[in-house]
Amino acid sequence: MKDLLKQLDLTAVNAGTWYGSDHCEDQSTGLIDSINPTTGELIASVRNTSPAEYERVLTMAQESFAAWSKVPAPVRGNAVRLIGNALREHRTTLGALVTLENGKIKSEGIGEVQEMIDIADFAVGQSRMLYGNTMHSERPQHRMYEQWQPLGLVGTITAFNFPVAVWAWNACIAAICGNVNIWKPSPKTALCGVAVQKIVNAALADENLPPVFFLINDDSNELAQTFVDDPRINLLSFTGSCAVGRQVGARVAGRMGRVLLELGGNNAIIVDEFANLDLAIPAIVFGSVGTAGQRCTTTRRVLIHKSRFDEVRTALVKAYGQIRIGDPLDGKTLMGPLIDESSVTRVEAACDAVRAHGGEILCGGERLDRPGNFITPAIAVAKNDWNIVQSETFGPILYLIPCNTLDDAIAMQNGVVQGLSSAIFTDNLQNAERFLSSGGSDCGIANVNIGTSGAEIGGAFGGEKETGGGREAGSDAWKAYMRRQTTTINWGKNLPLAQGVNFDL
Ligand code: NAD
Repeated sequence: MKDLLKQLDLTAVNAGTWYGSDHCEDQSTGLIDSINPTTGELIASVRNTSPAEYERVLTMAQESFAAWSKVPAPVRGNAVRLIGNALREHRTTLGALVTLENGKIKSEGIGEVQEMIDIADFAVGQSRMLYGNTMHSERPQHRMYEQWQPLGLVGTITAFNFPVAVWAWNACIAAICGNVNIWKPSPKTALCGVAVQKIVNAALADENLPPVFFLINDDSNELAQTFVDDPRINLLSFTGSCAVGRQVGARVAGRMGRVLLELGGNNAIIVDEFANLDLAIPAIVFGSVGTAGQRCTTTRRVLIHKSRFDEVRTALVKAYGQIRIGDPLDGKTLMGPLIDESSVTRVEAACDAVRAHGGEILCGGERLDRPGNFITPAIAVAKNDWNIVQSETFGPILYLIPCNTLDDAIAMQNGVVQGLSSAIFTDNLQNAERFLSSGGSDCGIANVNIGTSGAEIGGAFGGEKETGGGREAGSDAWKAYMRRQTTTINWGKNLPLAQGVNFDL
């Protein structure tokens, strides 16, 4: 552990406030302890940001924006290219830190850094493609077009479960769009935030650029609320639970700011009578047990045609019996710990709620007799309308629900308040297309013969309904980080009005 911290230039107590590569020396604020969820041991600490430091961050970020927004977009892209290169160099070490602090298994920790690299590469290309449309004006000798301008300060608040990748989705795209970024990571993974801040700003140190990436830390969520309410933050990108996102959305809307919400999911996989279980079973197991069930896209419900129910149940219980639970840094481990003790308690409470409804826990839901936040992944037979099934328990509990028809399954799939990810396993073309048609899945992500989790960065990521409606990462998600400006130029000698209006003096 000490070697890893040394390689990432992390110390026992780390500054939690950064202005580009410069940090704050103020030691008056309290510390956020970074705890290893595998052992319960202290890894290091990160200092909270004080209100005065916050003011300094905001002032400097505004000054930076004035300069950075004037840097040509492809040059901004080159800065992000350097970041991508630096992340390539730190892929294994930063991935290991993600595993150490968050508890996700080694390949997922490294995969998260790979996702950062991928979005950096994407952003570099996008920096030369901030295209606007041109339109034909209805007036002679007029030219009409739209252009995309930098927005200003982009504030990013992230959840613990993707401690580095979600920052990159936002920051790399926002940066090529000419914005300055201020990040408040989850206090549960504050050390990852400091590590990223150092890698990224070291990569830009020789570039003679204004600081673009700022970091603040706060474990009380008081400063976070100031951040949300701050009219200087032009776009607030929030990733987290529906409950907090609802408050954040309302507060930003109250100041007429822009908000991008990436909130909770309650994702289902439909297994119809034509499903190939050789594909479906591993996809369900990865979707429900991967990241110990702590992904927004985690598979939480499996809606199974009644003719396949027993087969699927037996195969899943067998597969769950083979899940190797343990130290996430061990390459053979498939499931590590949950982030904290209260997450373990919530999974136990969900199992109790299933039993109270008269449902059956087929396996799992038992704490491991060892230090750390370990619990065996649970499978329950349940009904879609139970409260516990309707809500997102952010841990490894999977509900199996029998269905009579595809229409039933789609109605249940959509019959929750969240709308993030969905999938169907079928070899039947009509069923696949029905699921993808306008009366089919109502989610932001709809897959066929692929599970609900593990999205690629090339597509726009996000969900509908209480998932918040935001879109991040690829496709044209960059537009959320820019200001659209419609321009009409009159190059003639007359002043015709639109719609043929006469206003002669
Ligand atoms: P959370 O809502 O508890 O916290 C998210 C972030 O919000 C943290 O940084 C936290 O410090 C901050 N926060 C808490 N209260 C705040 C307040 N009043 N004002 C401003 N900020 C505040 O979520 P979590 O437990 O860290 O993460 C798990 C949740 O995030 C799950 O619901 C998961 O589905 C969701 N999530 C969604 C996506 C997505 O892209 N849709 C991705 C990852 C996680």
